[in-house]
Amino acid sequence: MARPHQQPILINGGRVIDPANGRDGVFDVLIVDGAIKAVERSIPTDGLDGDVRVIQAGGLVASPGFIDIHAHLREPGYEYKETIATGAEAAVRGGFTTICAMPNTDPAIDNAAVVDYIANRAATVPARVRAIGCVTKGRKGRELADMEELITAGVVAFSDDGDPVYDAGLMRLALTYSRDLGVPVSNHCEDHELCPGGVMAEGWVSSRLGLAGIPAVAEEAMVARDISLAQLTGGRLHLAHLSSAGSVAMVRQAKERGIPVTAEVCPHHLMLTDAWALGGKGDPNVAAGPFAYDTHTKVYPPLRTDTDVAACVAGLADGAIDCVATDHAPHERVSKECTYHEAAFGISALETALGTAMTAVHSGAVSLPTMVARLTAGPARVLGNGLSQFASLTPGTPADLALFDPDATWTVDVSKFASMGRNTPLNGVELRGRVAVTIVGGRVVFEEPALLNKGDAA
Ligand SMILES: [Zn+2]
Repeated sequence: MARPHQQPILINGGRVIDPANGRDGVFDVLIVDGAIKAVERSIPTDGLDGDVRVIQAGGLVASPGFIDIHAHLREPGYEYKETIATGAEAAVRGGFTTICAMPNTDPAIDNAAVVDYIANRAATVPARVRAIGCVTKGRKGRELADMEELITAGVVAFSDDGDPVYDAGLMRLALTYSRDLGVPVSNHCEDHELCPGGVMAEGWVSSRLGLAGIPAVAEEAMVARDISLAQLTGGRLHLAHLSSAGSVAMVRQAKERGIPVTAEVCPHHLMLTDAWALGGKGDPNVAAGPFAYDTHTKVYPPLRTDTDVAACVAGLADGAIDCVATDHAPHERVSKECTYHEAAFGISALETALGTAMTAVHSGAVSLPTMVARLTAGPARVLGNGLSQFASLTPGTPADLALFDPDATWTVDVSKFASMGRNTPLNGVELRGRVAVTIVGGRVVFEEPALLNKGDAA
């Protein structure tokens, strides 16, 4: 994206957190021709050519742009839910500079032509978009997709997300190939037989509301299977959207045993519990009232207990979980304006991800540098070398950055979303942590003037 005569940018006086380089302190960052030119204690403007844009970043954190390895952009096939353009706009508002599109589109991303289509559609959008290819043809779970063709076309991972790779024999094969191809298989762990008709976590809340439950073991049984298959094959297993304390414990133990497994957690699983379905914004003492059965709380994996949330947070803190991934799942209104049983699963998450995940920082459970690592270097490492250039502030690499105020409070207003998906249980909720500026390839693609009130000097 480097352009020969792009206006240079000097980011002045921000707290630079660059986990890939072990850097955390107040630095200036100079961006020239789309790349990081220098990161130094003080970079004077008088030695610079031409009209440099100076962004006064006092009070802000400047980090590599966030990388989301799990987003549903819905195009091709479901453009009434989201497009690559609207999804990318939502991404940069959330500080994400690279997003990876899940292949449950129509047609599914199971051949090079669809990968090319996405690359073409993504050429003019504000964020970098990478495609994830299907594990099986048409995501039908019967035979493997042509994984080599997909890698040559540029996919960064494989997944049948939305559904698991159900056949253990196929999963074994896919992991074997992933070892040789060096690209991970991301599995959505859900044993259907253990949660027939389930719409929310199985527990006292589902009992009170009379809704069919999804027990944690529906996720954990497949996590256990996949860890065993990763050990057998040496393949690159990535576990999508872990949500239960049992899953986190298994991944931690697998890593201790040297099994090649990585894992992600979604922002909502770091903050929200099943009690949100009662209608009291998570207050378990609220009896089911007029706002109960909020279909915006319906998501797979389901929102679970305080214990599960605490385990996901602890896993993020100690590295059992490698990264935060949004599972951004935009839906049109009618998919949520119906009964809880009929509603689609999913939360529109790109624009609230930082503020949601930051609850784990403000509670003291996760340090700010660790959270930044889990949004930048962590996801890049899960997918491999191709993305690491976007996950650091190393001079010479593309200038993808997020500037954010970790303490700024704001109230979520879905009517202001760039995403076409307004489906979130967080509408009207106050979050703490907000993106001020997003830069992709040295170009400012989003800025929130209210957070730059110290003013830009020219
Ligand atoms: Zn999934």
